[in-house]
Amino acid sequence: MDKATVSSTEIEQRVNHQRVRYLYQGGIRAISFNIINAVLLFGVYWFQLPPTNLVIWLIMLTLVSLARMVHTSLSLERDWDISKDLRHLQAFRIGVILTGVTWGAGFTVLSPGLNDTYTLLFLFTLAGMSTGAFSSMASDRLTYMLYILPMLVPATISTALQGSLLSLVMTIMLLLFMVMLAVTHKMATRTLAEGFEFRFEHEGLLKKLLKTNEALQSTNRELERTKEELKKLSLSDELTRVPNRRYLMQVMEHEIQRARRDKVSLSIIMIDVDHFKKYNDTYGHTKGDECLQSIAGILQQSLLRSSDFLARYGGEEFVALLPNTTQEQALSVAERMRVSIFNVGLAHSGCSAGKVTISAGIASYSPDGDSQSETKLLETADRSLYKAKAEGRNRVAIYDHHSVVVPLMSGDSSNGHD
Ligand code: GH3
Ligand code: MG
Ligand code: MG
Repeated sequence: MDKATVSSTEIEQRVNHQRVRYLYQGGIRAISFNIINAVLLFGVYWFQLPPTNLVIWLIMLTLVSLARMVHTSLSLERDWDISKDLRHLQAFRIGVILTGVTWGAGFTVLSPGLNDTYTLLFLFTLAGMSTGAFSSMASDRLTYMLYILPMLVPATISTALQGSLLSLVMTIMLLLFMVMLAVTHKMATRTLAEGFEFRFEHEGLLKKLLKTNEALQSTNRELERTKEELKKLSLSDELTRVPNRRYLMQVMEHEIQRARRDKVSLSIIMIDVDHFKKYNDTYGHTKGDECLQSIAGILQQSLLRSSDFLARYGGEEFVALLPNTTQEQALSVAERMRVSIFNVGLAHSGCSAGKVTISAGIASYSPDGDSQSETKLLETADRSLYKAKAEGRNRVAIYDHHSVVVPLMSGDSSNGHD
């Protein structure tokens, strides 16, 4: 069974527990009324009756009520398992019986010394107590019966035994009253139990709903992660693990807009491996792949700003996007790339340098110059690259300028023409 579902046995247990709790909580509020009523009657009867019986009755009722109050409040306070350990409920019921018996016995012993009016007052009090306990003991029928029967049955019998017409009428009324209480209390108990049941079922459903919601949220998070992964995969180049052309185009569009808005420069470097066809022909396609992976790594390392972005543009071509970078600055970055590749010295017997070299073309957007689109920039960079190739490869060029032959960096013995 689903853990989140509350089983019917569990609901039954909880309902039982709640019923006993209800009884105890009702007791806490109602027990003191026994003492209050007894004290009132005691005051009224003080001048009518011999004190001994009256005092004994009051002391008994007070003691029983106090004992019940202590037991009930301790049970609730210490959260004893009142529904599982039946001894607690039994103790509670014994207290209830003793209270009922003390009231019933009190009437039996004291009423013969009272006139009709005072007897009626006693009966009125007993009826009031029975009705008052109706709701405080609404959750448990047996306990209620154990309270009212020891109280009302002796009172009814002793009323009947008085033999007068009034006592006969009173007896009939008391009997009817008891029947009415018994019948309506049964309904009250059932309705209350149904209420508890409904509440717990409702809580169970709510819990289940929350669990389902949690599960849904976690599935959603999982989906989001997968989506992110997929997005990353769709935006990165499988061989070199650097961003692919699609990703480049997205970033470029965004960066050009930003450069325009912030009125700052932006440059791109288009990089192409020299004589790579020959490399493949000489060393095989697999070696060619490895070579491209190494080149991607070296190019990536040559980019020092976190905002710089390297992508594989296609085949053996890469594009570096350099936000906030002027043409001159881009030139030195491109040169650093070229020298780095040269210095790593990946063997390439097919070209004059004897090692792998790259050519690079630059295109820049300047806030003072013409407006540029991604396509226009890429076209310019491609022309610059073509120029670098045409001027002998292993170099960096800018279209519309004379071929740039940047002074060699330390450790660089490259820049020879092919
Ligand atoms: P150039 O100096 O003018 O650029 O000469 P090139 O030989 O590098 O240029 P060309 O365009 O003639 O050849 C590019 C080669 O790059 C051809 C192709 O087989 C190779 N190439 C492109 N993509 C890959 C790849 O993913 N793996 C491998 N191993 N080779 C690739
Ligand atoms: Mg090429
Ligand atoms: Mg090439």
